[in-house]
Amino acid sequence: MSKNKQVEVAVIGAGPGGYAAAFRAADLGKKVVLIDRDPNLGGVCLNRGCIPSKALLHISKVMDEAKALSKMGVTYNEPKIDLKAIREHKNRIVNQLNGGIAKMAKARSVETIEGVAKFKSNNELMVETKEGSRLITFENCIIASGSTSAMIPGVLSDHPSILTSKTALDLVDLPERLLVVGGGVIGLELGQVYATLGSSVSVVEFLPNLVPGADQDIIRPLQRKLKKQFKSIILSSKVLNIEAKKDSSLEVTIEGKVGRSKEVYDKVLIAVGRKPNTELLKLENTGISLDELGFIDVDVYQRTAVKNIFAIGDIVGNPMLAHKATHEGKVAAEVASGRPSAMDARVIPSVIYTDPEVAWVGLTEVEAKKNEIMYEKGEFPWAASGRAIAVGANQGKTKILFDPETKKVLGVGIVGPSAGDIISEGALAIEMGADAVDVGLTVHPHPTLGETIGMAAEAFEGTITDLYVPKK
Ligand code: FAD
Ligand code: NAD
Repeated sequence: MSKNKQVEVAVIGAGPGGYAAAFRAADLGKKVVLIDRDPNLGGVCLNRGCIPSKALLHISKVMDEAKALSKMGVTYNEPKIDLKAIREHKNRIVNQLNGGIAKMAKARSVETIEGVAKFKSNNELMVETKEGSRLITFENCIIASGSTSAMIPGVLSDHPSILTSKTALDLVDLPERLLVVGGGVIGLELGQVYATLGSSVSVVEFLPNLVPGADQDIIRPLQRKLKKQFKSIILSSKVLNIEAKKDSSLEVTIEGKVGRSKEVYDKVLIAVGRKPNTELLKLENTGISLDELGFIDVDVYQRTAVKNIFAIGDIVGNPMLAHKATHEGKVAAEVASGRPSAMDARVIPSVIYTDPEVAWVGLTEVEAKKNEIMYEKGEFPWAASGRAIAVGANQGKTKILFDPETKKVLGVGIVGPSAGDIISEGALAIEMGADAVDVGLTVHPHPTLGETIGMAAEAFEGTITDLYVPKK
């Protein structure tokens, strides 16, 4: 046993939740240690999630836009794909950011330890490092150990031709035939990357819709595009069996409404959700409790059932998003530092970074109908936006849901390029309790895609001049 240590705050996991928590606690004057089993800081989001996927999605978007330019009078030759150079480009971005986090940790005197953290008690962690075990005694601990890809129970998963988001992002080769299991965020983002780079992509989704939690009117323009890019989109169907063939291809049995079918693919990407990383933590040595899905139970202060242990990010459950993890990380650090903080964000925006992007925040129509919440709606079709037409984004749409009595913004949904950037205005409107007049009377710059938010509010108010809405 070497180098035992006593700290005020120990953080397990250096993802967007963990490093934000560690840095905030250090900025509030605490002695902090940040532990991760991975030598590269940044967690799933930086190393094998948000950032590498966006680097690849950028490439596929530009390739697609270059192709679309032929309709505008500019034609390029067929692209040449150098997978090694693409991988190096992606890795350079990730490494640059890894280095940035390490520098920020050093600047704040946050000690980073590479190793697997396990609880010994409500005040002690044993960290298994390459050099041996280290005992860390802590006053407060923040668990930010994140999540891992879930696999399909009873179906072959351990085979080199079966990919998870992690191995798919490694982009080792371009399979001729790729089956994506799961029509959610990962399936559509990575499916679009592979399809643009040249794979023949099929998607199989268990439920009747792609991205089932989102409103289908804002998914439809994406689905229309994917229908052209993918070989097939198989809905209301599930994978029953995957069998490895001698040539390392996979025979997949799918069961749908019309019965069973078998097809051979070179690779299968499993993207059916994520599960919490609790297994290594030895939580049984603490008083921490889990919910029915295996996520750690926390209160609004991000406190677990043990007063001095907090948990944040994917390990506490949905939505499993980096910006939620960061926000919760700061709350936990502040509470652990004696500040009057709590997780009271009204809304967490969601974005699918495909082309077109889809983004939504707050109440959706699906949720409103399910929970019998009354709402009214203002919509602005991008076919009426000069900017959208100029950039070939006429399929886009912005809608705002309002409270019928107070006219306050309850939710916003957008589909179209930059939807993920524009949605922040919707999040701010909901946080600030803005109503239709506030949004409609905010002067938006013209011609922008962002002004469609103001126009959706004006359409609701009946003050819009960019559309003709017949009087009722
Ligand atoms: P993580 O980022 O999962 O980090 C947890 C860290 O804890 C890991 O580094 C792990 O090595 C470490 N760890 C685990 N157990 C231990 C242990 N016992 N001891 C030591 N270390 C341990 N979200 C978005 O908001 N936007 C996106 O665009 C986006 N894209 C994504 C794309 C993909 C392909 C994937 C898979 C996810 C994406 N996400 C995205 C989700 C996002 O990555 C997660 O929500 C986010 O990383 C969660 O952060 P976290 O801090 O909770 O944990
Ligand atoms: P997901 O929950 O978004 O989608 C999984 C999909 O798989 C669902 O539509 C589900 O119905 C379907 N499914 C489940 N079991 C199936 C089966 N056996 N056969 C066919 N379909 C099945 O999960 P994901 O795409 O794996 O992403 C995991 C998490 O990562 C998400 O919760 C998301 O929060 C996060 N993420 C976010 C982003 C982003 O913010 N842009 C990008 C990637 C990942």
